[in-house]
Parts: sequence; structure tokens; C-alpha cells
Amino acid sequence: MLIDTHAHIEMKEFDSDREDVIQRAKEAGVGYLISVGANLAGSIKAVELAEKYENVYASVGIHPHDVKDMDETTFQTLRELAKTAKVVAIGEIGLDYFKEFSPKEMQIARFRELLSLAKEIEKPVIIHDRDAHDDTLRILKEEGVRRGVVHCFSGDYNFAREIMKPGFYISFTGVITFPKADDAREVVRNVPIERILVETDSPYLAPVPYRGKRNEPAFVKEIAKTIAEVKGLSIDDVSRITTLNVKELFGINGAEKEVKLAYPIRDSLYLNITNRCTNQCAFCAKFRSYTVKGHYLELSHEPDFNEVITAIGDPSRYKEVVFCGYGEPLIRLDLVKEVAKWLKSKGLKVRINTDGLANLVHRRNILPELKGLVDSISVSLNAESAERYVKICRPPQGEAAYDAVKSFIKDAKNYIPDIQASVVNLPGVPVERCREITEKELGAKFRAREYDEVG
Ligand code: SF4
Ligand SMILES: [Zn+2]
Ligand SMILES: [Zn+2]
Repeated sequence: MLIDTHAHIEMKEFDSDREDVIQRAKEAGVGYLISVGANLAGSIKAVELAEKYENVYASVGIHPHDVKDMDETTFQTLRELAKTAKVVAIGEIGLDYFKEFSPKEMQIARFRELLSLAKEIEKPVIIHDRDAHDDTLRILKEEGVRRGVVHCFSGDYNFAREIMKPGFYISFTGVITFPKADDAREVVRNVPIERILVETDSPYLAPVPYRGKRNEPAFVKEIAKTIAEVKGLSIDDVSRITTLNVKELFGINGAEKEVKLAYPIRDSLYLNITNRCTNQCAFCAKFRSYTVKGHYLELSHEPDFNEVITAIGDPSRYKEVVFCGYGEPLIRLDLVKEVAKWLKSKGLKVRINTDGLANLVHRRNILPELKGLVDSISVSLNAESAERYVKICRPPQGEAAYDAVKSFIKDAKNYIPDIQASVVNLPGVPVERCREITEKELGAKFRAREYDEVG
């Protein structure tokens, strides 16, 4: 299921066939759409549509083009509308210095007022920003607004990174499907999928192959398709993840927090068997959210062999099965061995993602026990020195842990065919030195992982 997070189906362009448009969206797998008010009449209409159709939600706001017509009554009416249950956000609001239909100073003043309304009623914002990146960022910071989305994103990756810092999402339109939009696709490539929403901005900006026609919510799948291509994900991955993002931001109930014991990403199947860790890594995303690529991983209990096998189902369509999750799989060594044996009996490839501390935890060399059961292992090295390792990974064993990880990587090749060591690209980490240690000293393959890139 996809969710079109920004469609102006309240606009007059849909007066003749609105019902059909909503129906077509449903048939195309667009579970929900948000009708976004851009002026007072549009906001009233958006709320009416949300009340009428189960799959429509509303957002209320005044577009920067129209703030010149705002008065005190507009503001009070918006406040009343904003309190209704199916209104999920305040927007669109923001700044448009490209057309500047309302004077800049007025745009800024109204933007601030509408941001305070969002704070007052505790709902996120949908931001319109055209040629006004610096002021948008500054005003959001000054007003202390941290929940929302910048719709129809038109900035570069530096701006995206700054706007994501406090917690904003980035929403892409059909623009990313246009042949000449390489810069926009570069931003798509760099922004973590966990921060991306999709939208049509109907009736505007129809994606390829509908370019030039009136846009409608059913076309949002073309945008998801482009994101999937650019990021090397499947369309199912993009649908699931962006839908969960919508749930987290707007509370729309399209994605359930069902705990996954086995979760597919691309053509691999990942297993989530424990949330326990030896380390307490400073960068770990689980301290913010237990979601990985749209899968929710916080376990209510640790699963046993039968539960894991049932969750795996038929593994034959996967390239490999990976013990991973938000936890250290080798803490549950016996279960890993049992499940890996079962997977190998089915001819599957098995990988383990690990912190490399299992020998310390189990007080013996466990590597011989993995022989014949595991095809590849990825070990987090994360630092070039014991001192930095302790700072980043916070192991209970202190600096001794770093040497243990290195010995584990070095010795692993005696039992497992494919060994990889990874570092997370955090500020200050000398990635090239880590590569040298991995390749020359430990004789393993090396991979630098982006911070924020999980799964
Ligand atoms: S080992 Fe993995 S799951 Fe555990 S704290 Fe570190 S990064 Fe997080
Ligand atoms: Zn807009
Ligand atoms: Zn819009």
C-alpha cells in the first residue's frame, strides 16, 4: 500500500469526477491520501472530503501565495478545523520567494503564526518552500517546530540534511521521474528511505508517463517506482517503508506495528532473534526507533526455533538469509546454529551480522562451531583504536573488546568462507585507516556504512 501525502483533490480541477479519482486511487493500491488545503475555502473542502471518505485525510493551511488574504477570522476558522479528528496536519504553509505573490515580510509573519497554531494543537506541519530554503530552516528552528514534512522537495542534499536534523521528513513528487531531474534523483539517493514520503501534488506535476496531463493520486506509484530504482529497493520495500513513515508522522493507521521475526529487504531475508546486545553503540538507531526499512523489530519475547522457522516460511525465493535485527544474534548461539543448520539443509546461503564479541561472551572460541553452517559474516569493527572503539561501541569489557573483535575477524576465515569488517562513517572515524587494518592486518573485506543507513 502507498499513501499519497499531498493531493489537492479539493480543488476545482476534480469537481467533475472526484468520486472516480478517489476510487481509482484505491484500485491502484493507494490506501490513503491527504487532501491538503492551500487556502481557507480549500481547507474547509478538504475537511468535508475527509469526513465523507474513509480513505481521505485532511490538512488545513494557507499557502504563502494566499496569506495576503488572511485575516483574524481566517485564523480562527483554521484553528477550529484543525482540531477535528481527521485533520492530520497544518499545511500547506511556508514561503514562496519564487513567485512572491504575497510580500516576503508578510509571508514570514503569517508562517510564524501558522507554525504556532501547529504547536498549539500539537499536529505536524506540511511545508511549502520554494527558493526560500535558508529562511524556512531558520524560522522552523526559531519557532521550535520539529515535526513535519517539506513537500515537493526542491533543495539539495545539504539542505535535506539540515532539515532532517530536527526530525523533518522529505516528500518527493513526480519531478523525480522527469528525464532531466538528475539532481533531484541524487537527493533521493542520499536521503535515507526512513525519512522519505511520496506525494503527487495533484492536480499539478504529473509524473512520467502522464506528464502534461492532470495529475491524480493513483499516479503516486510512478514516484515510488523511481525511488525504488534509484535506491536499489523493491517497490514493496518503498511502499512498506513510506507507509510506516506516514504512520509515524501523521498517525494514519495504514501501517501496523506488527513485530517481525523475519523481514525481507531487497532479495534477502533478515532474522530478528534477540534485542539483547553486548555493546551499547552510541550511533545505534534502535535508541530512537525499532523500525528498520519499514519493519518493526522490538520483540515482546525471544522466539524459539519453531517460531523462527514459521516466520521464515518458504525461504527459497531469497538470495540469502541474514541473522541481524536490533540485537547481537550470537548471544543466542544455540538458536543460530539450529536455524542455520535447517537453512543449509534447504540449500540456502547464511550470513551473520555481528559485533564480533561472541568469544568473550561465551568464554570460548565459538568460530569452529559455525563451520559448514555459515557462508559469510559481517563484523562491526567501527574504529582504528581500542580507545575510539570504547567511545563508539561502549562494550562492557572496555578496551579489551577491541582486540577481541580483531582476533575474531582474523580467525574467522579458518571457518567461514566470506569475511567482511565494517565501520559506520561517523565524524572523526578514520575510515581509510580502518580499511588498511581490515585488509592488511586482518585479511578481510572492508565496507564503510553510512550513518543512518540501517538494513
Ligand atoms: S550491536 Fe547493533 S543493535 Fe546493538 S547497540 Fe550496537 S548497533 Fe545497536
Ligand atoms: Zn506546495
Ligand atoms: Zn500543494
